[in-house]
Amino acid sequence: MNLKSGLPFWLIKNGLAKDYRTLDINTETEVLIIGSGITGALCAHFLCEAGVKCIIVDKRMASTGSTTASTAQLQYEIDTYLFELIEKIGEEKAVKAYQKCLESIYTLEKIIKKLKIDGNFEWKSSLYLASNAKDFKELEKEYKIRKKHKLPVKLLNQEELQKKFNIRRKGALYNNCSAQIDTFKLCTEILNYHKKKSGLVVYSHTEITKIVSKKDEIWAYTKKKNTIKAKKIVAAPGFESETLLKEKVMQLNSTYVIVSKPMKDEFLWKERCLIWETARPYLYIRTTQDNRIMVGGLDEEFQDPEKRDALMDEKNEAIIKKFKKLFPDCPIEIDFYWCGTFGETQDGLPYIGEHKDHPNMYFALGYGGNGITFSVIAAEIITDLYLGKETDSSIFSFER
Ligand SMILES: Cc1cc2nc3c(=O)[nH]c(=O)nc-3n(C[C@H](O)[C@H](O)[C@H](O)COP(=O)(O)OP(=O)(O)OC[C@H]3O[C@@H](n4cnc5c(N)ncnc54)[C@H](O)[C@@H]3O)c2cc1C
Repeated sequence: MNLKSGLPFWLIKNGLAKDYRTLDINTETEVLIIGSGITGALCAHFLCEAGVKCIIVDKRMASTGSTTASTAQLQYEIDTYLFELIEKIGEEKAVKAYQKCLESIYTLEKIIKKLKIDGNFEWKSSLYLASNAKDFKELEKEYKIRKKHKLPVKLLNQEELQKKFNIRRKGALYNNCSAQIDTFKLCTEILNYHKKKSGLVVYSHTEITKIVSKKDEIWAYTKKKNTIKAKKIVAAPGFESETLLKEKVMQLNSTYVIVSKPMKDEFLWKERCLIWETARPYLYIRTTQDNRIMVGGLDEEFQDPEKRDALMDEKNEAIIKKFKKLFPDCPIEIDFYWCGTFGETQDGLPYIGEHKDHPNMYFALGYGGNGITFSVIAAEIITDLYLGKETDSSIFSFER
């Protein structure tokens, strides 16, 4: 699948990451992880920390799937409102899903501190803007239910929003428990760390085309006809799950991102908070450490790369126009732009854990706007499942 086109900022900012060699022998390990994006890297982290021997394979150069295309905003807020999620899966589970996302941001910070690696992690505040008066009513409802469950949230009305952030909208939900990172950097640093410290083995340009599960073992076959025997396989293939999972669990869309030239401080908004909105598809906005503005959105409900790429110029203009409605005085100019495939599930939650048709496998499919926080949750749950520890993964299971 063609996951992205254009020039993702992170690849230019960081330069090419270390590449790994291609598998050209038959080998074995305890756990084989398919996919070296942020999800595979985090699964490797938790498993390696628990002393489990792991191999990671990737059909691309390591970490260059969707992880390079991400705008990497970390939010505990799921694409589905908490009050809507409660209607779908019940209060206890819905609140737990939100709490897990919140915890996962703290977990990611802890990992970065513990390994002494650099993922440009920064705590940020976040504004969820009401795109119209009707949506503000929904934000009021959402505020009450989040407050009831002690999730960090404030409700700003039109005047407060204007006064504090100079943004003209009906109102917003605000929290100061969000964050932003450079996912590509973080991902490559996790892999390098565990390669050196834990004996993690990484193979790039190694595609798994067939999997055969036997009683207590599982065999993966590569395109070049080598085999990897393991006790378990963790499937972290990002949006390309179709060769590994029989069931279709998500809808694939296309999304567009622009990055501005570095801006003078006076043109950046207060707290440089993350910004998104209630409209669907939504615009998502952040800044970078070198004072650029990154704006994504205007998603289309198709995944055809040709159709997607043909729209790139039009989408760039439309993104700038929408951004200017929010910040009319900001002289934003585009330096980088790209577009990418993006997967969403019906309820906004990821699929994590075992699947009845795929014995000896665990799936880590963190689809939706919270892909990275879901990756943290998936890595923790899967490690607990492998170690036989008690874990409550039912909220994210295929049977939910
Ligand atoms: C434009 C954009 C903006 C986003 N913004 C955000 C955001 O602000 N916040 C957020 O949390 N999330 C965001 N996301 C989502 C987030 O980036 C993804 O959820 C995350 O990067 C997925 O990581 P991954 O490791 O699961 O997938 P990937 O990074 O795609 O890694 C999967 C890897 O598996 C490999 N692979 C697949 N199949 C095989 C196979 N058969 N054999 C070998 N290798 C295989 C692929 O080559 C790939 O490298 C965004 C995504 C996009 C595209």
